[in-house]
Amino acid sequence: MTKTAGIDKIYIHFPFCRELCGYCDFFSRERNTCRGFIKKFPDLISGEYSLYKDICRTGLSTLYFGGGTPLAAGYAGLQSVFSIFKNILHKNTEITLETNPLFNEGAARSDWENLLAKIPKLRISAGIQSFDLSELEHLGRNKIPDPAFLDFLKKNASELSLDFIFASGSKRLLSLKKDIIKALALKPAHLSFYGLEGSRLHSTASEKDFLSQYRYIITTLKKSGYRQYEISNFSLPGHECRHNLNYWQNGHYLGLGPGACGYIHKDGKDIRYSNHRNFSLYQKCLQEGKMPWARRETINSKTREFEFLFLALRTGSGISLKKYRSIFKDDFFRKYVLFIKKHTKFLIIDRDRICLNFRGLCLYNEIASDLYI
Ligand code: SF4
Repeated sequence: MTKTAGIDKIYIHFPFCRELCGYCDFFSRERNTCRGFIKKFPDLISGEYSLYKDICRTGLSTLYFGGGTPLAAGYAGLQSVFSIFKNILHKNTEITLETNPLFNEGAARSDWENLLAKIPKLRISAGIQSFDLSELEHLGRNKIPDPAFLDFLKKNASELSLDFIFASGSKRLLSLKKDIIKALALKPAHLSFYGLEGSRLHSTASEKDFLSQYRYIITTLKKSGYRQYEISNFSLPGHECRHNLNYWQNGHYLGLGPGACGYIHKDGKDIRYSNHRNFSLYQKCLQEGKMPWARRETINSKTREFEFLFLALRTGSGISLKKYRSIFKDDFFRKYVLFIKKHTKFLIIDRDRICLNFRGLCLYNEIASDLYI
């Protein structure tokens, strides 16, 4: 990775939700247990950001409010966090706000509308998971998304992105078909479908169920004009999430907030870090003017090469052989000859690219781990 002229992508982790969902692996606390911390949150984020100002660029490319549930910071809290970054946005900054479609409370609707209207080119990413009540109950949610709230999101977003969970069980295919019809009716620019396996909830779907559901998603969305640009992500042409694409292109970004991760270039080194999850430790570090890092790793050249390859393999455009050669000064076919031999039936190889076919996408973890040589 060459040295960047400054980081221009920022992720802010809001680690609180109204309630915690049974399947969710993201770091979050119930809002009622940390109201005091939520009040201090904007000042803490401002203090943390000031520690990195020397390596950040003005004119952000992307700003991502994730969590957790950013709206659980309340109207005033979210507005205060937004105002920290207001002066370093430019007209093309991609701004994403994650929402929970059950979150329908707090300030008056008109206040939220006023705030969202002030955020230019806003992408709203809503974690729908399913429109089917029994499917949601299986995931630990007891209400379906409020249609009025979905209308509100649609009205206030420049772009809508919807997230779903599949492969929770063998019967999911039926509800999935209905979910996709309802999702497409909302005309989202972007859709994500995550398999339940690997989350905290046990999936009862067999491998055959997984394959048939995943295949259904890919073929249906393709027919509707969506391009699969990553294992779990689909968009209309030109509406890929630039912030997330940067992760898969192994680009630098700043992560702020308890539990956030970041990848920065500082003092000539590439550093991956993750922040303390413990709110008291996080605050203490900031009071002492220190980075609130729980872990940090300086990325050496071997890890950098592995990360470049395994992240690129997640994407629809795959590994660019030309880019690999220009960064790592080596020939991919020469160095990874055993990898190619072992996985030929899962790869699509053309002159400049290697990507995974459908079976390969389903076996991504197993295949990508063989890139570590
Ligand atoms: S799925 Fe969303 S709302 Fe539920 S616990 Fe996770 S972050 Fe919070």
